[in-house]
Amino acid sequence: MPDVLLDLDAVTAGYNGVAAVRDLTLSVSAGEVVAMLGPNGAGKTTALLTMVGLLEPMAGSVTALGRPVRSRHTDKLVRAGVLLVPDDRGVFADLTVGEHFRMARAKADKVRLDFVLDRFPALRPLRDRRVGLLSGGEQQMLAIGKALLAEPKLLLIDEMSLGLAPKIVQEMLPGIRRLAKDENVGVVLVEQHVELALSVADRAIVLNHGRMVLEGAARDLLADRTKVQQAYFGAG
Ligand code: ATP
Repeated sequence: MPDVLLDLDAVTAGYNGVAAVRDLTLSVSAGEVVAMLGPNGAGKTTALLTMVGLLEPMAGSVTALGRPVRSRHTDKLVRAGVLLVPDDRGVFADLTVGEHFRMARAKADKVRLDFVLDRFPALRPLRDRRVGLLSGGEQQMLAIGKALLAEPKLLLIDEMSLGLAPKIVQEMLPGIRRLAKDENVGVVLVEQHVELALSVADRAIVLNHGRMVLEGAARDLLADRTKVQQAYFGAG
């Protein structure tokens, strides 16, 4: 039996009574990378917000780490190891890299900090640098590094490639897969670079107009681009 970390059962969610995600059923197991793909406005961020209880489903239910997710439990989920890296990266331009680490590592020890810096060695010499002066790729490394300090069990990453050169994304994504495999972390990866995402994911889903229009093994979807393109650009 796979160790299911996240389970969405027929989730419908949205804003002001208007659904942006409809009837989404999805599960993520420990050590598994699931890519969530789809065009702008398809509902990917909405689905992520629902997974961490920042948005209450209008229908259906969400279970994370074996417990029902409710909106008032978001802080508990974070402590339990469910972490969302938002697409704005959640970093502060005026603070240094080191200050971000200090804020994030309430309980994390030096060994863990070293582990994170080993993953992102480019950050080591930048500890005293203000984040506003970092490149987009360095900021993204910091955002993910911060999340890793908390020893996540489930990591939800919203469009890490936003504003990054594809080359940098290409360098960073394999690290996400290694993390999932080495530490048995479940990962949901929202990504606009479809092929890059499929190349590191185990499974993928495509959302379109809030509905899941395609689901499959990443390997199979990589081999059938037409199917993915149809799901991506079809009416849904
Ligand atoms: P993108 O790739 O552009 O970020 P997405 O797939 O993440 O898109 P969502 O951000 O989940 O899509 O948006 C889904 C729908 O919900 C869109 O129609 C969007 O306009 C709407 N929406 C998103 N956030 C809000 C909000 N706070 N209030 C009202 N509607 C919203």
